[in-house]
Amino acid sequence: MPKISSIKARLVYNSRGSKTIEIDVISDKRYLGRACAPSGASVGKYEAQSFVDNKPEKSLQIITKNIKKFVGLEADDLKSIQRQIRKIDHTNNYSKIGGAVAYALTIASVDSAAKALDEPFFKMISQTKRWKFPFPLGNILGGGAHAGPGTPDIQEILVCSIGAKTPRESIEMNLAVHKELGKTLQSDNPRFTNGRGDEGGWAPEMDNEQALEISAKAIESLGYTIGKEVALGIDFASTTQWNEKKKKYVYERAGFENTPEEQIDFASNLIKKYKLIYAEDALHEEAFNHMAILAKKFPRTYVTGDDLTVTNPKILKKAISKKACTGVILKVNQAGSLYDALEFATIASKNKIGVITSHRSGESTDHQISHIGIATGSKMLKVGVVGGERVAKLNELIRLSEHGLISGMAEV
Ligand code: PEP
Ligand code: MG
Repeated sequence: MPKISSIKARLVYNSRGSKTIEIDVISDKRYLGRACAPSGASVGKYEAQSFVDNKPEKSLQIITKNIKKFVGLEADDLKSIQRQIRKIDHTNNYSKIGGAVAYALTIASVDSAAKALDEPFFKMISQTKRWKFPFPLGNILGGGAHAGPGTPDIQEILVCSIGAKTPRESIEMNLAVHKELGKTLQSDNPRFTNGRGDEGGWAPEMDNEQALEISAKAIESLGYTIGKEVALGIDFASTTQWNEKKKKYVYERAGFENTPEEQIDFASNLIKKYKLIYAEDALHEEAFNHMAILAKKFPRTYVTGDDLTVTNPKILKKAISKKACTGVILKVNQAGSLYDALEFATIASKNKIGVITSHRSGESTDHQISHIGIATGSKMLKVGVVGGERVAKLNELIRLSEHGLISGMAEV
């Protein structure tokens, strides 16, 4: 097995232009694995902390000081790498080394091992040999924490081409919808600037309902039936709206407030009206019981936790016991290390919870998460539709479809 011979960590920039950590792991003195940590804008309370004292420089200093502890370990032995990380940082949230380091180090190590063994990354971390392609799920219109004033309060309107038979077809269909929506926005408002949010979804000045209406119109004008060939999803990112003092969801841009009961009705009406296949964080990050009401009401929709479950195995167990969701977002950097994230995916799958592997709004041009989506048996891969850092993940699916190792699309 390949052994780690050297490690180099550095500061680089993510797609939002913020500093982050990138790590190179070299095995057997020649096989370079590289990974760069992404970062979120709508961050869950219980996520791993990205950097020591929120300073990338401090995390860089700590990993640089501790590199020797990892040299000599087998690059694909995630358990031993994790043990060493935990010797440096035993906190729940990686506050002593930074989740960005745990992310980049574990993924770069596996990447290096994959290169040394001439195997695809996904194979190195899979427990199964029955691989499927997750359906790309992408942001076509954004607001909330990902876009400026005047845009919808809802963070993401998403598209998923469930009628596609191959990754290429699903990518092309998502792209066609994104393009058509751009044209529709332009013809509705000739002053539309073509502005986009952090993940490449259009960012027009309009309220939630208008945004959903125009998204649906774009899909239908391409001749698709919503919920058949192309389905819609929403990431409500409701923690952004939740006001703990008022105990209400405050939709500042649209100018209304919802009690938790009203919020359940609000989400229910949208799920019904737009036949949503996917509804993420429709209630805030601690509203397990209210999420459970929605999950029970809509068994054909992935009622999904993101800030709710933060890729944390312990919190996932709580969500399962409360039947709070039927889908969970898997973001490795929420958990910290790849080791933690794989544990999370195993628990989810055992309990028949759909896994949706996801990017962050601040991304790199890496594409390992496409492999992680395949390895974890994810139903969908939430990585956007356009933008270099998003397309990098989608293009990797196309390359992987040439391998012949992966048989068809996931069942959703
Ligand atoms: C999300 O909320 O699902 C998301 C991808 O955004 P962020 O990375 O800002 O948390
Ligand atoms: Mg989310």
